[in-house]
Amino acid sequence: MKATLTILGCGNSTGVPAIGNYWGACDPKEPKNKRMRSSILLQTKTTNIVVDTGPDFREQLNRENIQTIDAILYSHTHSDHINGIDELRVIRHRKKALVPIYGNTITIVELKKRFNYLFKGGNHELYPAIIDPIEIIDDNYGKAHRVGDIDFTPFEMDHGTCKSVGYRFGDTAYCVDVWNIEQSAINTLKGIKTLVIDVAGYRMTHNKVHASLDTIYRLNKEIKATEIYLTSLTLSMDYQTLLNELPENYIPSYDGLSLPVEL
Ligand SMILES: [Zn+2]
Repeated sequence: MKATLTILGCGNSTGVPAIGNYWGACDPKEPKNKRMRSSILLQTKTTNIVVDTGPDFREQLNRENIQTIDAILYSHTHSDHINGIDELRVIRHRKKALVPIYGNTITIVELKKRFNYLFKGGNHELYPAIIDPIEIIDDNYGKAHRVGDIDFTPFEMDHGTCKSVGYRFGDTAYCVDVWNIEQSAINTLKGIKTLVIDVAGYRMTHNKVHASLDTIYRLNKEIKATEIYLTSLTLSMDYQTLLNELPENYIPSYDGLSLPVEL
C-alpha cells in the first residue's frame, strides 16, 4: 500500500534561522534553508501518524493542512522533540478521544513527569486528560505495530545521552536523533529503500550525540538503502553547499519535502 512521508521539519534544536534571525552558514535567500525542528508526517488516505511534537508542531500541521492525527510516535524526550505536546489538546477535542502516543519506557516516564496534567490520573482538576500512552518495551523492538492502516516497526537507537527510538514504515525508516545504531536494530532496517537520518554530527568525529556522515556511510554499508535523506540540519549546513558536497544518493532534506513510501 502506498503512503507519503512529509518532512514537517528538518532543523536541529535551534531551527534555522535561530533567534535573532541568525542564519549561520546558511544562505537566507535559499528558501530550503528555512528549517523548523525535526518531525515527520506519515499519511495514507485514512491515517495520519506524526513522529515527535517539537516547538513548531502547530505551525507544521497548519502548513500541511492536517486536521487530525491518529497517533504520535516519540523518538526521545529532548525538548526540541516534545515541547509542542500541549497542542494535542485541539486534536483530542476534535477526535473526542484521547490521542495515542507511543514511546519507550524512559520517554513515557519523562513525559508523565513533565506533562503530568495531560495524562489520565494526572493533576488536571479543571481540564480533561489529552493523551493515552502506549509503552514500547524491549520485547516490542523489531515487531510490527499498527495504527489505522499504517504498520510501523520500532527499533532502539543510541543517542549518546539516552536511548532513542527509530521507526520503520515499509520500505522507509526514520532515525532521529541518533549517534549510532546497534546490530539488532540494523537487522530491522535491512531491505529498506529510503533512510531519513539525523546528520547533525556531519563532519564532527568527536560528536557523541548525533551521527556524522562517516557513521551513516558505515551503517548504510549493511542497511543498503538506496536513497539517504539527511535531516536534523544545523546552522552550519547550507542547502546548496550540501547538495554540492554530498555523494550521489545522499540528499539534504527540506521542510515540506514529500517522499513516496511503500508500506
Ligand atoms: Zn536529541
